[in-house]
Amino acid sequence: MKLNIGGITEAGQSKKNLTGSWRYQIPVIDQDKCNGCGICELFCPDSCIDINNGRAVIDDTYCKGCGICVKECSRDAIVMQPEGDG
Ligand code: SF4
Ligand code: SF4
Repeated sequence: MKLNIGGITEAGQSKKNLTGSWRYQIPVIDQDKCNGCGICELFCPDSCIDINNGRAVIDDTYCKGCGICVKECSRDAIVMQPEGDG
């Protein structure tokens, strides 16, 4: 993707930056521990966490595996696993 620094870009261009391709580890949520507080959603730098039906859900197209959500979850409901371990 070409970035035009200081220039005008097309709308929605950030969606083309598939940050999930950077990932070598992926967060996995323990749905029994998650209470849907939304803290992880607030802190995720790629805005790829949503709260659905009172539980956190991650869009792995954009999750880059940074682990910030793991650090911020006060219920220890998220752990990182190596990519591809299912
Ligand atoms: S911060 Fe933890 S408990 Fe809160 S919504 Fe995210 S995973 Fe669930
Ligand atoms: S690992 Fe990083 S990018 Fe992925 S959901 Fe957690 S905070 Fe967001």
